[in-house]
Amino acid sequence: MSSAVHLHPRAWPVWDLFFPPLCAICGRSLTPDAILFCAQCWADAPVADAHDLRPLKHTDVVRAGYRFGGEDVVRESVHALKFDGMKRLASVMARHLIPRMPVRMVEVDAVWCEVPLHWLRRAARGFNQSRLLADELAAATGHAAPVSLLRRVRATPSQTSRSYRERAANVRDAFALRRSRSLPESVLLIDDVITTGATVDECARTLKAAGVKWVGALAFALTHPT
Ligand SMILES: [Zn+2]
Repeated sequence: MSSAVHLHPRAWPVWDLFFPPLCAICGRSLTPDAILFCAQCWADAPVADAHDLRPLKHTDVVRAGYRFGGEDVVRESVHALKFDGMKRLASVMARHLIPRMPVRMVEVDAVWCEVPLHWLRRAARGFNQSRLLADELAAATGHAAPVSLLRRVRATPSQTSRSYRERAANVRDAFALRRSRSLPESVLLIDDVITTGATVDECARTLKAAGVKWVGALAFALTHPT
């Protein structure tokens, strides 16, 4: 997916020497605590609700903070974190996601676990954006540090433009448990973007086949159901 929103030229750091930094989307001045995007662009971001989410087969609860797809701060922040390596954005995204998490999801006695990347992709990117989000969410809510329970044993082709059925087949058996980990009863999977849910549901299937009783999924954003 290519971004249709062009970063405002004065958002580049070199300009900080001469001008206050500006929002990369709308060009307004940024407050000192803002990173790349202004408070108004965040306030205008489309919020997801439970009706946006299709039920999944193995995942007990699925929630997301925002809808992904418009030319807005949701898509720009996801892209800037994942493709531009703006790791500092993870804390901003977590801060905006927390008020949209169901309280029960924070309080449930579950181990938090990121959706893993294949090691080749992780090596190329240098980080897993879902793990960064999970770490920031845990730090901000006081939850125990996330645990990497799963690894991706198969690199999967791009999921873009595939239906749920195609995606489910694409990720089948793509995950395995990390052998050194003892399994908890409940796991909350954390991802940056959920599209059809096929990936998190395959993670949930893998965990449940190994004896986990409850698996929830939380994403920063989700795409419109197709
Ligand atoms: Zn803005």
